[in-house]
Amino acid sequence: MMTVVTRFAPSPTGFLHIGGARTALFNWLYARKTGGKMLLRIEDTDRQRSTTEAIDAILDGLSWLGLGWDDQTIYQFARAERHAEVARQLLAAGRAYHCYATPEELDEMRALAMKEGRPPRYDGRWRDRDPSEAPPGLKPVIRLKARQDGETVVDDLVQGRVVIPNKDLDDLVLLRSDGTPTYMHAVVVDDHDMGITHIIRGVDHLTNAARQTQIYEALGWPVPAMAHIPLIHGPDGAKLSKRHGALGVEQYRALGYLPEALRNYLVRLGWSQGDKEFFSTEEMIEAFDLSAVGRSPARFDFAKLEAVNGHYIRHAADDRLLAAIDDILPHIEGGPDIAAALTPARRAQVLKAMPGIKERAKTVLELIDGAGFILASRPLAVDDKAAALLSPEARGHLAALHERLAALPEWTAAATDAAVRAEAEARGVKLGMLAQPLRAALTGRTTSPGIFDVLEVLGREESLARIADQMPA
Ligand code: GLU
Repeated sequence: MMTVVTRFAPSPTGFLHIGGARTALFNWLYARKTGGKMLLRIEDTDRQRSTTEAIDAILDGLSWLGLGWDDQTIYQFARAERHAEVARQLLAAGRAYHCYATPEELDEMRALAMKEGRPPRYDGRWRDRDPSEAPPGLKPVIRLKARQDGETVVDDLVQGRVVIPNKDLDDLVLLRSDGTPTYMHAVVVDDHDMGITHIIRGVDHLTNAARQTQIYEALGWPVPAMAHIPLIHGPDGAKLSKRHGALGVEQYRALGYLPEALRNYLVRLGWSQGDKEFFSTEEMIEAFDLSAVGRSPARFDFAKLEAVNGHYIRHAADDRLLAAIDDILPHIEGGPDIAAALTPARRAQVLKAMPGIKERAKTVLELIDGAGFILASRPLAVDDKAAALLSPEARGHLAALHERLAALPEWTAAATDAAVRAEAEARGVKLGMLAQPLRAALTGRTTSPGIFDVLEVLGREESLARIADQMPA
């Protein structure tokens, strides 16, 4: 049996955006599913636009998403000599030729095509010309001598059988006059040399697939299986824009999405298994198949992503969520201050309060917000809504509560619960009349985890001190 080898081949001219992340995920899943490998190739041949920051962002983003790749990362630019060698090999075999057409000539061809209402094509003027006619001092490009009759067929695993008449494909450039390879040529040589068996990428590369197929055929190399997956559109069906969520993966991380949630959300953009919404990593690998990838564009929906993330947060282990907080602190505003406030004692408190905090959070940012009462220091900043609850009457209740709570022999949620209820009864008021100002005093907010859990997490000393801060002077 042939071992499957897939690859993710991003151009490091920008961050790892959501579409790229999904392409990587599909390649990763297919490789894992088949017991094969996923390789990573950084397509850094555009020297002007490729940056090391973008490379780092791509590597970080993949690692954060848990999409590990096999073997060594390949950098395309480093293989330029091999690309040139293969182009010369085609030249020697008569499957490619030197073309000396000047930029002006190419402009004329383009203008003529425009005038005649056909797509611009190189007219093949150097295809059969003798090199001795070459103008002196001009460096040629190397063009593929593409077949002109018949058709090129791409048997795509997602798009089906795509047939392109060869007369619509011109003799593409393999090697520029400065000796650098074109994208089209480099991709073919690299995929071949890396032993790629399956090319899984966005459908925007489908026309390239036909041209690349011609290069494979000229070289006598087997053409890898191809799967061109639909693009991701915004919720309104238009091309994905920043407003829609075309952000870098690192931005999703800073917005507080868990990698496992983002992965689950992404896998269902273009692929599904019935109505099943949530997949563990193992289930995803088990169920994934290219034949179940649809052809229509997927729609990106932030609200849906948030709901999926909330599900993952509610079901995550508490220490996993504490780790997720640690993970994003370096990436968010104010993160370093929070990291400094997270002493070992407070970490233990956050962990203890996590069951109540995670019930109310859809993102890691909301977890941090929910843990705010633990990280806050006295005297607490009280928000406007909470301040409105601290009427003179309520402050009177707090004073009575303080006395009763201070007398408790043990400090547990159950004990404080009983004490607050007893006090409400003694004063002939509803529990809420005490619980609300108590929450305001302990957290500075009107929402928080259960108030008796808050009391237990904060501990006797800190709780009593926060209550005392709000008592009548
Ligand atoms: N480097 C190309 C891109 O980022 C992908 C090339 C390929 O997958 O063949 O769009």
